[in-house]
Amino acid sequence: MWFEGWSKRLRPTHFSVLGGEPLLNPNIIPLLKLVKKYWVGSEIKLVTNGLLLPKHPTLLQTLYENDITLDISLHDSNTTIPLPISSPIKINLRKSYEKWRLDPPSPGHNPIISYTKCVCRFCTQLHNNMIWKCPRVAYVGFTNLSYWSDYKPLLLSASDEEVEEFLNRKEESICGICP
Ligand code: SF4
Repeated sequence: MWFEGWSKRLRPTHFSVLGGEPLLNPNIIPLLKLVKKYWVGSEIKLVTNGLLLPKHPTLLQTLYENDITLDISLHDSNTTIPLPISSPIKINLRKSYEKWRLDPPSPGHNPIISYTKCVCRFCTQLHNNMIWKCPRVAYVGFTNLSYWSDYKPLLLSASDEEVEEFLNRKEESICGICP
């Protein structure tokens, strides 16, 4: 498991386990335990829409034992989630639907404009043993766009200087894909 290598390079204050929908992963319980093992000093959250909570009967106990917050991402204001209100775990409800936008790309695909109003600009992703700027870049392949062809995620083999430079980047050309 490549968590070990990155845990020696990065010590984030917050670490969120998310998807897609992480409760679709049949290995979510061991995965959460691994995250806790390697990032014991981080504040860890499981971000889920909550709809599959009943399918994971041991999940709440795992969250409790590993001090992981259950972060319910609400996809619309009418969704009913089977919240474990009697559980001692920490639960956070986030109104994700209030932040989603369907705007077109910024005028002239200006990365500065896009980045300045981006709600994901501090959401660095660890995915497929690489570090990515944000969820959009990590999980959505715009392979037919010139912005995308220049983009390079961070590899575990990067030097400390390269890691620092990557994490300190603000807007870059790939941001031009965004509203
Ligand atoms: S690529 Fe888009 S979503 Fe990612 S940081 Fe840039 S503006 Fe935000």
